[in-house]
Amino acid sequence: MVVLEKDSLPRHKTCDGGVTYRAIQLLPVDIREVIELECYSAELNMIDASLHFSTKRQQPIISMTSREKFDFFLVSAAKDAGADVLADCKVIGIINKSDKVELITSKGILSARFAVAADGARGVVAQKAGWQETRYLIPALECEVFVCESVLRRFSRAARFDFGIVSYGYAWVFPKKEHLSIGVLSM
Ligand SMILES: Cc1cc2nc3c(=O)[nH]c(=O)nc-3n(C[C@H](O)[C@H](O)[C@H](O)COP(=O)(O)OP(=O)(O)OC[C@H]3O[C@@H](n4cnc5c(N)ncnc54)[C@H](O)[C@@H]3O)c2cc1C
Repeated sequence: MVVLEKDSLPRHKTCDGGVTYRAIQLLPVDIREVIELECYSAELNMIDASLHFSTKRQQPIISMTSREKFDFFLVSAAKDAGADVLADCKVIGIINKSDKVELITSKGILSARFAVAADGARGVVAQKAGWQETRYLIPALECEVFVCESVLRRFSRAARFDFGIVSYGYAWVFPKKEHLSIGVLSM
């Protein structure tokens, strides 16, 4: 098995890196070493209606990682399990043949029995393979914000979601070990 990645690794990915408890249970590897902080609480604020909800669980609701480190950990686990990883290798085109698929990449042509397109929300591999475009775009902004100790402490108890700030969307604050990941999106 070969994993192709267009960027060099580890690579940045715009994401808040929150992994739900259920997702962690489904992973075949133990990801504890890349978890920065675990949130046993989540807060939902409906700012314009002045409504505030919070919940607390026995298990972490969401565990916070940095995507750069989390993804590199997963790629390394795949390598340990026997996969070849080709970084800096961008898929540019696909040729479907009766018995195989040919991937035209920035590093030459590769043949395989089949290819799995796992190239993300903005990936083009499925389209190049002849699948129809079905995606909606949801614009989002995300920022890694370094704050003073007291602000970090104030926000580090819970994953926070604020509605009523942007139309058809919400903002969030995900606490990490040394900073906050803050974002906003609108559907
Ligand atoms: C602002 C923001 C915050 C988010 N926060 C969270 C969160 O906290 N928790 C959560 O669960 N989800 C979150 N998400 C969603 C999450 O990021 C995605 O669902 C997830 O990354 C999808 O994973 P993936 O492996 O399918 O794609 P990706 O993580 O995008 O990985 C695709 C990979 O394919 C590579 N690639 C692309 N094109 C090619 C090509 N042509 N050839 C070779 N390689 C290629 C890319 O470089 C990339 O490494 C967030 C998304 C955004 C935008």
